[in-house]
Amino acid sequence: MDSFMQAAFDEARQGLAEGGIPIGAVIVHQGRIIGRGHNRRVQQGSAILHGEMDALENAGRQPAAVYRESVLYTTLSPCPMCSGAILLYGIPRVVIGENRTFMGEEELLRSRGVQLEVLQDEQCISLMEQFIAEKPELWSEDIGV
Ligand SMILES: [Zn+2]
Repeated sequence: MDSFMQAAFDEARQGLAEGGIPIGAVIVHQGRIIGRGHNRRVQQGSAILHGEMDALENAGRQPAAVYRESVLYTTLSPCPMCSGAILLYGIPRVVIGENRTFMGEEELLRSRGVQLEVLQDEQCISLMEQFIAEKPELWSEDIGV
C-alpha cells in the first residue's frame, strides 16, 4: 500500500478505534496531504460525515484550482454523496482501496471523466468485512438501507 493509501487506512483504523465506521480518506495536492479524515457519523451524530466528506471538510475551503489538481484517496468505493462532492469540486482522480464490500458510484464518476484506480487492497477489504460482520445494522444505516 502506498503512503497516501496507508494514511487513509490509518484514518479508517482510527475511526474503528473510536467506535465508528472504518472508512478513511485523504486529499493530496501536489504530493502533499491537505486534508484527512474518517467516517464520523457515529462519533458526531452526523448525517454527512463519511470519510471523504470529513477529509474535504478538514482540508477547509479551497479554490477550484486546488481541487482540480488534487487526488482523493479513500479506503472504500465512494457513495453517491461523496461522488457528488468529487464531481462538484472537479477532483480529477480518485484512488480507491477496494470496491468488493461496497460498490459506489464508480460508473457515474467514470462517465464524468474522473480517473479511478481500484487497488482491491486486502487490508481494506478485511477491515470492512470484519466490521460488516460485527455491526451489520450500523453499516446498513451508513449506506441508507
Ligand atoms: Zn460517502
